[in-house]
Amino acid sequence: MPRYDYRCRTCGATFELRRPMSQSDAPAMCPAGHGDAVKLMSMVAVTGTASGGAAAPAEGGGGGCCGGGCCG
Ligand SMILES: [Zn+2]
Repeated sequence: MPRYDYRCRTCGATFELRRPMSQSDAPAMCPAGHGDAVKLMSMVAVTGTASGGAAAPAEGGGGGCCGGGCCG
């Protein structure tokens, strides 16, 4: 069962709940008893792949900006 993160709009606490996808948008109850929590967008680890993600190209240092005319 997937877990979802929620944030209480009353006290700002964040918490997570396990619930079926069909109830992911259902109102959640804050652990402190507030009833006004919203679901947060979070990484879903339901389907795990063993392959690594794409690494960002290492780019650093050379300041050749003026060659392309971006300096005005
Ligand atoms: Zn709360």
